[in-house]
Amino acid sequence: ATPTAIMVGTGRGAAAGILVKNAEALERAEKLKVLAVDKTGTLTRGEPAVTDIVALGTGEDEVLALAAALEQGSEHPLARAVLAEQKARGLAMQAVSGFAAVAGHGVEGTVSSRALLLGSPFWAAERGATVENGVLAALQGQGKTVVVLAEQQAGGSVALGLIAIADPLRESSKAAVARLQALGVEVVMLTGDNRATAAAIAAQAGITHFEAEVLPGDKAAAVQKLKQGGRLVAMAGDGINDAPALAAADVSFAMGAGSDAAVEAADLTLVKSDLMGVAHAIALSRATLSKIR
Ligand code: ADP
Ligand code: MG
Repeated sequence: ATPTAIMVGTGRGAAAGILVKNAEALERAEKLKVLAVDKTGTLTRGEPAVTDIVALGTGEDEVLALAAALEQGSEHPLARAVLAEQKARGLAMQAVSGFAAVAGHGVEGTVSSRALLLGSPFWAAERGATVENGVLAALQGQGKTVVVLAEQQAGGSVALGLIAIADPLRESSKAAVARLQALGVEVVMLTGDNRATAAAIAAQAGITHFEAEVLPGDKAAAVQKLKQGGRLVAMAGDGINDAPALAAADVSFAMGAGSDAAVEAADLTLVKSDLMGVAHAIALSRATLSKIR
């Protein structure tokens, strides 16, 4: 497009709540075929809260207190939810030693001489603590993320409890997905969360194509895969983990409320953290180009 087209697009973008860092990317938005969206913080509000604690052989408060001790050194949104609930229940904070965060899986460390981990059911099972409990599947079916607290004991790992954390959809997500689909854009959800939780959230948002259990380092590769056949692919994300995937996309959108890393990596920022902004960007791109032609 001409410099005039770019200026018109950039000015209107600002009016529509889209901060344009890369005007050429806005220009490309016209031909978008696919939008990959991160789940947590992009489709959902990114304000996870603990909804259920299931104690397996111990008390609920003990499960929560041990989980909080493990999470005190983590910056993950799930950690914030666990710590907020511990505080709300007035539970004392215990010290942790040998803390480690394992990206895409969870956290581990020693609390009161007990070797513990807190993380995804898949990871806990890998470490020997399998949860065969209908409650787990039921909670995941409600779109909640369930993390397992497990202890390494002499006879092997034992699950001490489950913590379910809910992060509701943003109010605008469902309508934005429908609008994008009407514009001929396929919306694909990418998440590190487990399949059952991902399926429930995707269904709530009206998304049929999703990829679950994507490790943080693999989101960029998932975007590359969507580009196969020359399809023009956009990515919308909010997290530090999303920056490589944003860079891999033809057009990238950061949520305004997202991390600095995402905003820096993205071509365009949705100031109101509203995915409807992607549909606006497409409309803007089409209008600006047709005006100049
Ligand atoms: P997402 O892509 O949904 O933001 P992540 O890749 O950050 O997810 O994490 C994937 C999964 O790993 C989470 O759903 C959770 O089960 C587990 N996990 C990661 N970090 C933590 C943590 N600090 N505490 C508990 N569980 C965690
Ligand atoms: Mg996110």
